[in-house]
Amino acid sequence: MNNFKDLINEQVILDAIADLGYTEPTAIQQQVIPAVLKDQDVIAKSKTGSGKTAAYAIPIIEKIDWNENKPQALVLVPTRELAVQVKEDFANIGRYKRIKSVAVFGSQPIRFQTTALRQKTHIVAGSPGRVMDHIERGTLKLDELKYFVIDEADELLHMGFIDQVEKIIKKLPKQRQTLLFSATYSVEIRKLAEKYMTNPTFIEYEGKQ
Ligand code: ADP
Ligand code: MG
Repeated sequence: MNNFKDLINEQVILDAIADLGYTEPTAIQQQVIPAVLKDQDVIAKSKTGSGKTAAYAIPIIEKIDWNENKPQALVLVPTRELAVQVKEDFANIGRYKRIKSVAVFGSQPIRFQTTALRQKTHIVAGSPGRVMDHIERGTLKLDELKYFVIDEADELLHMGFIDQVEKIIKKLPKQRQTLLFSATYSVEIRKLAEKYMTNPTFIEYEGKQ
């Protein structure tokens, strides 16, 4: 199964992937995309550069209900650069489905993000501090949230975000799909997964692509 066509249905997504020049799914994408489409919780471990962002972005975009105005997916990342990158990856892959993604991070005045979040928003990518800030202000509404992604889990933990991540998880709907991505796996990550994920499928790929 070396073809995006065998993994996903929506032609608008296949067209966007082709525009990006992705000719075939990477190894981790071949395993993660079907598991996410089957509504499973997934822990995926693979090296940096192996295509983890698209591994979750592609199936989430396929599952997004375009007509819903409130955010359906929240992606936590450790840095501002990653928040912007993930937001852009969702925008690119979701271009022809007209997916709206917003990045929230601490070093930008909050009013820009508040204005963006008032519009239709399918996906929010952000760093934990600012995500929590928006939740507390009521500018990030989570009652329609269905997909929760912890990306670069190892970095989030190294940078000391564990308490904030757990505080955010407690605000999320219990009925949701949780996906965790990391380049390394540790006891701390396993504890987090055991606490907040439901029967997660563990997918690991050791190679580069
Ligand atoms: P990781 O999160 O595993 O470090 P990224 O999601 O940042 O990896 O992807 C690394 C690079 O690979 C990015 O430039 C991305 O655009 C590219 N990429 C992702 N999927 C594919 C694919 N199927 N074919 C070619 N390039 C891809
Ligand atoms: Mg990544």
